[in-house]
Amino acid sequence: MMTGDQYVESIRKMKMRIYMFGEKLENPVDHPILRPSLNSVKATYDLAEKPEYQDLMTVTSHLSGKPINRFCHIHHSSEDLIKKVKMQRLCGQKTAACFQRCVGLDAFNAEFSTTFEMDEKYGTDYHKRFVKFMQKVQDEDLVVDGAMTDPKGDRGLSPSQQADPDLYLRAVEYRDDGIVVRGAKLHQTGICNSHEVLIMPTIAMRPEDKDYAVSFALPVDTEGVFMIIGRQSCDTRKLEGCSLDLGNSQFGGVEALVIFDNVFVPKERIFMLGETDFAGMLVERFAGYHRQSYGGCKVGVGDVLIGAAALAADYNGAQKASHVKDKLIEMTHLNETLYACGIACSAEGGKTRSGNYLIDLMLANVCKQNVTRFPYEITRLAEDIAGGLMVTAPSEKDFRHPELGPYIDKYLKGVAGVATENRLKVLRLIENLTLGTAAVGYRTESMHGAGSPQAQRIMIARQGNTEHKKKLAKAIAKIKE
Ligand code: SF4
Ligand code: FE
Repeated sequence: MMTGDQYVESIRKMKMRIYMFGEKLENPVDHPILRPSLNSVKATYDLAEKPEYQDLMTVTSHLSGKPINRFCHIHHSSEDLIKKVKMQRLCGQKTAACFQRCVGLDAFNAEFSTTFEMDEKYGTDYHKRFVKFMQKVQDEDLVVDGAMTDPKGDRGLSPSQQADPDLYLRAVEYRDDGIVVRGAKLHQTGICNSHEVLIMPTIAMRPEDKDYAVSFALPVDTEGVFMIIGRQSCDTRKLEGCSLDLGNSQFGGVEALVIFDNVFVPKERIFMLGETDFAGMLVERFAGYHRQSYGGCKVGVGDVLIGAAALAADYNGAQKASHVKDKLIEMTHLNETLYACGIACSAEGGKTRSGNYLIDLMLANVCKQNVTRFPYEITRLAEDIAGGLMVTAPSEKDFRHPELGPYIDKYLKGVAGVATENRLKVLRLIENLTLGTAAVGYRTESMHGAGSPQAQRIMIARQGNTEHKKKLAKAIAKIKE
């Protein structure tokens, strides 16, 4: 396994094409806006080295029999699935941000079972190719960005019906040694901190969408691949050199628009090509795993937010007020409900034909559906407890100013004996999580990440088995039709 520092150096060696604010970045690794997101991924390596977290962060590979980072693992039991969620909660607690490495983990497990079943039906050798790729990932302890979301253009039209055929990523040229692809993937979490990208189709497809039913993996610095970094609320605060104003100066997340401008994919890296009837399975499984993931990562970040709200109450002298206590209980109840869903869909997971374990799809979708709501209520309560100062406090530069600073120190003091600076720090952390850069991962991503709410409702409807429930009701009511 790599150490955190080795990981950072391995990313530094890559020749990625990254653009931000209209410029190509020559040194993305040390860029103040991007570095906190790299630090979050680095934490997945650093934590794996700590003896107290070995059980959650590392596991024995079923391919090599060697110890590997759990982020590179193919789950082989319900216990593996449960430990994954616990690991994500831990990483959320330690970073208070999106640590990005789960999209790859979820893609690995979806690909592992789907390629196996494709080969069974079509006699292809995708599973063998994929396992070879997985061996490299595990042996080299790589970060892989699972990439699913296409731009989608007109949502009322299928991929092949779009006015611009590139609005879903597709194969544009078929060669003996591979394919050439063109298209884009949106909202790509952690792409600039990844070694490889693993592409999957974004929706179930019909036979006429053959060119779009494509899955493959490539190094992120492959010729023709480039990314444009997404803006986050308050991102340029990171350029000001005022760590107090950031709330979380060490960690963050990052998303980007990634463009594949006529990119060659060698045959051995292709894991689906034209099998439209399996696109839906791959999407459903990847989404299911990532909906499980949110029952871990968002809970860990929620733990930090609850702690910050409780601290703000302490510093305001409001910790004994019964309504404050009750709000903290409500936040905890909501957060632990999400965790319960993450654990439940893992415990109820089952073996696929390939031998790896898949979460219970119904419960994973219920988990994510709750995630589209509860973090919003948790942030509302955190803002309630924090008070308006979390958005009106002066900047660190004013606080450090020789003449202004003493006034800020005096008038923004809460409880005597608590430094004003500490009060400001915790309010900035709440601001960061509810409105700032981390709000991307904690709020809007809770809504749309791993699929928007309606995507889960479709899956819940599909898995709900209402006919069976009607039969139950008829039996109890003694209805004979
Ligand atoms: Fe992992 Fe959560 Fe970020 Fe998804 S949103 S990559 S599950 S930390
Ligand atoms: Fe996500």
